Amino acid sequence: MSSNVEIIIEFKNNSRIYGHRSPLSNGFVAANQAYHDLSDSEISELVEISLSGEDDFRQVLARLACAHPGRLNVYHERLIEREIFDPAVIFHDASPACVRMIADRISSDENSLRRKQLLRCMAWAGNAEVQSLFKIWRESPPAWVSDLSLPPHEYSYEAGWELTSNGDRRDLFATIAFPLVKGTNSSNDNSPVEGGMYIDQRCPWCDHKLVVLLDIDSTNERVSFLELGESRHRVIACQDCTFYGPIFTTNNGKGDSIWHPSNVRPSNLIDITHYTVFERKLRLADKPRHFLESASWWNAPSITYSLIGGMPTWIQDAEYPNCPECSQKMPFIGQISSEDFHPYLVEFIFYCFICTKCNVMGTTYQCSDPCD
Ligand SMILES: [Zn+2]
Ligand SMILES: [Zn+2]
Repeated sequence: MSSNVEIIIEFKNNSRIYGHRSPLSNGFVAANQAYHDLSDSEISELVEISLSGEDDFRQVLARLACAHPGRLNVYHERLIEREIFDPAVIFHDASPACVRMIADRISSDENSLRRKQLLRCMAWAGNAEVQSLFKIWRESPPAWVSDLSLPPHEYSYEAGWELTSNGDRRDLFATIAFPLVKGTNSSNDNSPVEGGMYIDQRCPWCDHKLVVLLDIDSTNERVSFLELGESRHRVIACQDCTFYGPIFTTNNGKGDSIWHPSNVRPSNLIDITHYTVFERKLRLADKPRHFLESASWWNAPSITYSLIGGMPTWIQDAEYPNCPECSQKMPFIGQISSEDFHPYLVEFIFYCFICTKCNVMGTTYQCSDPCD
C-alpha cells in the first residue's frame, strides 16, 4: 500500500462523520495533502480497496469525487453493481448509460430510502438524460412517487440545480469558487470580498448586532463571475434569528442592506444570551478552487468551508430559499463556516443567496446537531 493511501485509510479509520474536529486537526492536514498528492495509480488502488472492502469507505469515495472531479467516472458502473450509492456526489457527471442503470433500479426497488438515494445520484449526474426523465416523472408521476417526501425532480436541489418549466437545467451555483480566508485589517488588503463582522445595525427582532456575512464589491473583476452587476452587495444576517428560517434583505441603492418587508418575526423567538461568534474578517483567497472541492459534508480533511461562489456544503438537506418577490429559487453565492471562528464549537454554516433580478439577498443556517 502506498504511503498516501495508508495516510488516507488511517485517517478514515480514526475520524468521525459528525462532531468537533479539534482532536483530528493534525490528521486533517496530512490526509488532505495525501488526497491532493494521489497519483493516478494510487487513486485506482484506493478505489479498488473501497470497492472490495467490507468497511465503510463512503468518506473516501466522497473525498475522491470532490478532490479529483471526473476521476470516478470509469468506476460508476462497478459502483452501481456493488450497490454503492452513498454519498450521491460520487455520481457527479455520471454518463447517460449509468443514469439509465440507476433509473431502472428506481423503478424496481422496493426500498423507499434507497429510491431517494438513487434520485440524489441521478441529480448529481445531472445530464440531459436525467433532465428528460425528471421531466417525464413530473408530468406523469409513476406509482412509486407516493413513497417520496419530494417529487422526483426536486431531488435536483441536492446537486445544485433545478428543472425549469421547460424541462431544462438551471444551475443555482457558480462554477468558480474562491475560499474566504482569515485576513488582516491592513489598508493594503484590497480584497473585493470581506465577511464575518458585526455592524452598527441591530436585529429588529432580538436587538442583537447584525453581522455582514459577505460584503462584495461587485465592480471588482475578480468577482465578475458572480454576475452581480455594478454595485456593492452586503449580505447581512442576525446570527441568532437566521436559525428560525430564511431572512431576506434588500439593497437601498447606497450599498446598505435593509430588512425585507416579507420577513416575519418567528412566534417562538426565545430570549437568549448573545454570544460573540464573529471575531475576525475573512477575505478572498489568492487562488480559486474547484467548485466541487467543498460540496460534500463528509469530514473533508482540512477543508475550510467559507467561500464565495462554488457549491454550498449542506450539513442537512439542501434548502435554497424562494425569493420573496419573484418566488424563484435564489442562487447560492457563498457561505461562512464556523471553523474560521470557533473550531471547537458545534459546526455550523451560514448560507448566502442573491436574486439579482429582484435585488434581494437571503440567508439560511444549518448545523451538525440541529437538536442543540
Ligand atoms: Zn435577531
Ligand atoms: Zn426574485
